[in-house]
Amino acid sequence: MGDCIFCKIINGEIPAAKVYEDEHVIAFLDISQVTKGHTLVIPKVHKENLYELDDEISQNLFKRVPKIANAIKTAYEPAGLNLLNNNGELAGQSVFHFHMHLIPRYGKGDGFG
Ligand code: 5GP
Ligand code: ZN
Repeated sequence: MGDCIFCKIINGEIPAAKVYEDEHVIAFLDISQVTKGHTLVIPKVHKENLYELDDEISQNLFKRVPKIANAIKTAYEPAGLNLLNNNGELAGQSVFHFHMHLIPRYGKGDGFG
């Protein structure tokens, strides 16, 4: 999709630190991590937001989230983890290719919340 930065990551046009990848989904470290291990999970098809996901895309995407969360848990050993998704500029969305944030939590003052 034209100028979409996340499509460029999917296509390998720009680099990203990949956490997980299969035919439908890719997960990679956020370029500006709010906490250590902050990861983004995206579908490989360009969909702008939550409202645009159909059943097939949703299933292929969401079913992988626990596995990715477990990989983060093993790698970083956080005390907790937030799953977050912003839809629309007002809600804080800045990249208009659907994504979920997985934000490991380490305690008060860890940079988030
Ligand atoms: P949003 O604000 O749309 O919910 O989240 C977009 C996220 O994408 C931000 O946390 C931002 O740091 C991240 N991001 C923006 N551009 C890039 C990039 O080129 N590479 C990576 N890995 N993350 C990016
Ligand atoms: Zn895209």
